[in-house]
Amino acid sequence: MRKINIFDTTLRDGEQSAGVNLNLHEKLEIARQLERLGVDIIEAGFPAASKGDFQAVQAIAQTVRNCSVTGLSRSVQSDIDAAWEALKDGAEPRLHVFIATSPIHMQYKLRMTPEQVVETAVESVRYAKKYFPIVQWSAEDACRSDLPFLATIVEKVIEAGANVINIPDTVGYITPKQYGDIFSFLKENVRNIEKIILSAHCHDDLGMAVANSLAAIEAGATQIEGTINGIGERAGNAAIEEVAVALYIRKDYYQAETRLNLQEIKRTSNLVSKLTGMIVPPNKAIVGKNAFAHESGIHQDGVLKEKTTYEIISPQLVGVQSNSMVLGKHSGRHAFRTRIQELGYLLTEEEVNRLFVRFKDLADKKKDITDDDLIALILDEKLDTYKNFYQLCSIQVQYGTNQIPTAVVVLKDGEGNDIQEAATGAGSVEALYNALEKALQLPVTLLDYRIESVGSGRDALAQVYVKVSLDGKEASGRGTAQDVLEASAKAYIHAVNRMFVIEKMREEQALAAQ
Ligand SMILES: [Zn+2]
Repeated sequence: MRKINIFDTTLRDGEQSAGVNLNLHEKLEIARQLERLGVDIIEAGFPAASKGDFQAVQAIAQTVRNCSVTGLSRSVQSDIDAAWEALKDGAEPRLHVFIATSPIHMQYKLRMTPEQVVETAVESVRYAKKYFPIVQWSAEDACRSDLPFLATIVEKVIEAGANVINIPDTVGYITPKQYGDIFSFLKENVRNIEKIILSAHCHDDLGMAVANSLAAIEAGATQIEGTINGIGERAGNAAIEEVAVALYIRKDYYQAETRLNLQEIKRTSNLVSKLTGMIVPPNKAIVGKNAFAHESGIHQDGVLKEKTTYEIISPQLVGVQSNSMVLGKHSGRHAFRTRIQELGYLLTEEEVNRLFVRFKDLADKKKDITDDDLIALILDEKLDTYKNFYQLCSIQVQYGTNQIPTAVVVLKDGEGNDIQEAATGAGSVEALYNALEKALQLPVTLLDYRIESVGSGRDALAQVYVKVSLDGKEASGRGTAQDVLEASAKAYIHAVNRMFVIEKMREEQALAAQ
């Protein structure tokens, strides 16, 4: 069996998804889960891009011990220096440096001749090798590059010390056969290619990211880059869970395996979905709600008689559990703390105590507290990192079939002042949001509003995702509560607070740059 390295870029390429902006705590939470999932490499961000990115990459490199942590860098010394500062404390510091190699990118974006591009690439790899034990070099837009030129530049950067060569399909243009052919061509035409790792990085613009990644493996790639749930720029990246499970289920064909702990897939998918606000479509392979639901009578009958008639993947393989009751009203603090630890969350004593109060409160209203409920509570608790901003104190909403919906909200601002406002609307949520807008005195536009339940049952928790814009800037927020209106209000306040945090970070950066 060939060993395939998994390079996860959920926190870099995935975070570039429209409307997604994760804070430091959220990025750390995802990085820890990726470590449990067993990815080989975590691309934690683009250290030179912003102060926030730098801090996140540094914190992840210092925290994660069982994966190599990497950061993206342009082929300029200041980027490489910043990346080294952020990554040097990692268990295995690794740089991911790139330059575009397609005629269209070289001419219009870089305004460089092919010779200048080769020279810059070689220089940057040499410079990076002074610090980093492992340097990955990427040919941006490789799939629209001239193949002999690609082979030349790859040979030169290998000479300069690159350990991994990545051939990204940056614009999601290639087909599986063509992509495989590029790898075969490089294997045949580049000196010392057997000494390095060949990596694939695919985008899903034509829905072929996973198929292309698998074709690369067949043609000799031993590293696959992708994201959880396939999130990322535009149509997203190759979904790591799909590549890994395809290799596992079809090992007879691919003769290759990853180091992933497949049972952690579902949990990782849930966490990424919750924190990014990018809901997984029900029909998504491996992690969708319906991925294991058999609907047709003939299929159901077959599965009842013998599972393998229609089921090629068992839900248990990827950690899908039937909603087992875990805790209830009579569960004590010890059981509660143990379950949180089992779920893999690291919480401070203070956080556990606060959470326990909320758990007891919920257990009074809801009979069975499932793992999903607990995770929703934990993630909601983590939202409290915005203490210096607006806080929701109370809401009151009146609704009747023949009445005008009315909402009253009470908020606390960053200085601890109470703000109370009332408003009406065509529906309850609109009345609520109108009241919040009045209280905040900000022209916030609601771009997206989605609601889903955590688990099943009438007493299930409600989870609301919103995307808002203010002065042309966007932020997303989420809120969990047993009542849909309270969850709606929380999500709105969360998004607004995030907007301020992002703004504050931008201002700090601007000041630092001066
Ligand atoms: Zn990409």
